[in-house]
Amino acid sequence: MPSFFDQTTPAEASHLNGFAGNRLDRLSEARDETSLATAAADPQARYLLFAEERALIAVNGEAGDATFERPAAERLGLLADSLVLLGAAGNGPRLAGLIEARGDLPETIKAIDLRSLANQGLLKTDDLGAVAQARSMLSWHANHQYCARCGEPTLMRGGGVRRDCPACSAQHFPRVDPVAIMLTIDGERCVMGRQAHFAAGMYSALAGFVEPGETIEDAVRRETKEEAGIDIGRVRYHSSQPWPFVSSLMIGCHCEALTRDISPDESELEDCRWFNRDEVRAMIAGSHPGGLMVPPKMAIANRLICAFADWNG
Ligand SMILES: [Zn+2]
Repeated sequence: MPSFFDQTTPAEASHLNGFAGNRLDRLSEARDETSLATAAADPQARYLLFAEERALIAVNGEAGDATFERPAAERLGLLADSLVLLGAAGNGPRLAGLIEARGDLPETIKAIDLRSLANQGLLKTDDLGAVAQARSMLSWHANHQYCARCGEPTLMRGGGVRRDCPACSAQHFPRVDPVAIMLTIDGERCVMGRQAHFAAGMYSALAGFVEPGETIEDAVRRETKEEAGIDIGRVRYHSSQPWPFVSSLMIGCHCEALTRDISPDESELEDCRWFNRDEVRAMIAGSHPGGLMVPPKMAIANRLICAFADWNG
C-alpha cells in the first residue's frame, strides 16, 4: 500500500499561499544612505500606506490598489519619518509609510486588515505580497527605535534594511520569526485542533514557534508532542508562507504519526482530534453535516489540509 510520504512535492508550492507573491527587487546590495531620498524623489515612486496595522486600499468595485502617488499620500496624512524603501517594481520604487490616525478617509479609500485583504482577493498576488512586506517592516522599525544592547536611540540605515546604534555601534536587522505548522497524518486520517478564538467550527493544523537551536523537523516533533501528545516519525516539508502578523515565516510540513492516542494541551487547544479524509473533504467543500470547516484558501494550513485530502494514494 503506498504511503503519503512516497509522493514527490511539487516545485514552488509556496506560490499558492497568500502573501507569497512579492516580486519587488529589494535592492539589498545596492542601497546606501541616499537610497531612500532618491527613491522618494522619483516621480514614478508609489507609496504603500498604513493606518496603524491596516493597509489603505483605493477600492474600485472588485479591484483594489494599494499604491498611492506622493501628493495623495501627503493628503492622507503621510508621516514622512516613518518611510522605508521596500524595493523596486518594474515601473519604479515602492516605499511604505504610516499615516496619521485621523479616521476621516475619503469614501473610496478603505483601511483594511491584512487577513481580510487576503481573503477578499482585492489585490493582485504580487501587490498583496508587497503589502505584507510593508506591514512587517513598518512594525519592526516602530518597535526598534532603541538599541537592544545599550538602550540608546537607533538610526535607520540603507532605507530601512537595518538600524544602527551610534552609541555602541551595534547593528540591528529586521527579524523574521519561524513558525512550524504541521498536519499529522496516520494513513487515512489527520490531526486538527482548534483554539478558543477560532471562528466557530474551524479546525486547523497545529503550529508553534521554532525555538533556538532547533531544526524545523525537531520543532514539528516537539510541538506535536506538546500540543497533541503524539510521537512523530518522518517529516516532509510542503511550502512556506510570509505571515505578516507581525513578522513570521510559516513553514508548512506533513508529519507521520508513530502513536495514535491524543492528549491535547488544554492551555492552548479547545479541542484536538483525528479526522478521516472523507470528513476533511466535506470540511473543505463546505458540506460538513456538523458545519465544521478548515481555514480559508489564503492560509498555508488550507494548503496542507488540501494536499492530504487530494492525495491519490
Ligand atoms: Zn547601542
